[in-house]
Amino acid sequence: MDATVFDTAAERVAPPVVAEPDVSRFPIRGQREWGRGISGGHDGIDLLAACGTPMVTPEGGRVVQVKSEGSAGNYLVVRSPRGEDHVFMHLARPARFEVGDKLEPGERIGAVGDTGNASTCHLHYEIWTAPGWYKGGKPRDPEPPLRRWAAS
Ligand SMILES: [Zn+2]
Repeated sequence: MDATVFDTAAERVAPPVVAEPDVSRFPIRGQREWGRGISGGHDGIDLLAACGTPMVTPEGGRVVQVKSEGSAGNYLVVRSPRGEDHVFMHLARPARFEVGDKLEPGERIGAVGDTGNASTCHLHYEIWTAPGWYKGGKPRDPEPPLRRWAAS
């Protein structure tokens, strides 16, 4: 038998079984508005959306914090393989993850809420350079990558 013919037949009987990865990494899955950006004491950007709008993590990595407290409300910190921390605040409900859980880029992490010090439903999103959030890193402007993700 001709090898080429054999390969073609093999492809026919073994179609790819892996689903297409979801490449949309913008953290809000739905209508949103850009709110306050990084400036004087505000270490992140606000993305306004209806309470309950699904939220995803743009970067994969490990969960390093999952807590609830007075000003951040329900929040989650994800450390990317590059050592940057991605911080998500005011989630509608406590995230279902535990410290150490591994997340994929674009994985659902919860829903937009107004828990903590929030006057309206929004995601307060921060990116901190390595070694991370309150671990010696510094907040950097999340807007450029957000603009990139919004366009993809
Ligand atoms: Zn904010």
